[in-house]
Amino acid sequence: MLTIRNLQKQYVVRGGLLRTKQGVVHAVNDLHLHVRHGETLGLVGESGCGKSTLARLILGLETPTSGEIILKNIPLEQWQGQHLRRTVQMIFQDPYSSLNPRWTVGSIVREPLDILGRHPLEQRRKKTREMLSRVGLGQDDMARYPHEFSGGQRQRVAIARALAPEPELVVCDEPVSALDVSIRAQVLNLLHSLQKDMGLTYLFISHDLSVISHLCDRVAVMYLGSVVELAPRQSFFKTPRHPYSAALLTAVPIPDPSIPPQEMPLTGELPSPLSPPQGCPFHPRCPQAMDICSRQKPTFREIQPGHHVACWLYEATTQDKRNMS
Ligand code: SF4
Ligand code: MG
Repeated sequence: MLTIRNLQKQYVVRGGLLRTKQGVVHAVNDLHLHVRHGETLGLVGESGCGKSTLARLILGLETPTSGEIILKNIPLEQWQGQHLRRTVQMIFQDPYSSLNPRWTVGSIVREPLDILGRHPLEQRRKKTREMLSRVGLGQDDMARYPHEFSGGQRQRVAIARALAPEPELVVCDEPVSALDVSIRAQVLNLLHSLQKDMGLTYLFISHDLSVISHLCDRVAVMYLGSVVELAPRQSFFKTPRHPYSAALLTAVPIPDPSIPPQEMPLTGELPSPLSPPQGCPFHPRCPQAMDICSRQKPTFREIQPGHHVACWLYEATTQDKRNMS
């Protein structure tokens, strides 16, 4: 469905009192990822690691500095706007700010269909009613306004709007983190059943590993703009390979008694993407850092079938490491 290679996105920012100091933010830095048709790929990482920038790049809302995004075997830059909008949709974190408060729910859900303009009005209205019923809202809700709904219901409206054009890939950016804990499971279950019914592929962005562990087939871990580990869910939660993944996992209670509790080894703050560390971006915080880690960046490679990691612990034999040192 989606292949990303060597992706870079940099921004020039100005700082200082007179805003004369220039800096380059490496929001996405040499990122590799592939999303398979029909799967849910969970993308996890701390805030500020570049997850949302990656989402905007995939949606074509921003242009990469370099690298490739290939959607269904076609480079993203060759996609026409309308086809791209029909194929990739996004569900945002905040159902309060992502819905226009002046519009009825019916017009909100119909809007993407109106923009695409492929069908006559009556058909677009029919599709709108169908989508609202799929997300568990009724006919009467069409004429109501967003403020008349609860947070969970608003997110259902946002989901109906995103899925109305029948996209193939849906980027879900923290879709339940703004919701009450009590209704998160309902919305997650809804996303799961819609995926089955509509044959959707999800790229599911979250900082919440317990959500990821429930919903995702594979997990990608992002750190300072790069994917540092990509693995099937089971293999990831049983034996995370990257020291950063291991640290994330120990920080979150995962309801699986087979995973022994460990000490939380992660220390220090996420470094600024304005001056990412040389070598492995995780080395200033890594409990297993070696000499080479501060000098050379490890490559992202497959260390066992389907399990990819960027870390010197798996890069080469000890002898090779000595030779490189
Ligand atoms: Fe730690 Fe080195 Fe692996 Fe980076 S490459 S995660 S610093 S061991
Ligand atoms: Mg974000």
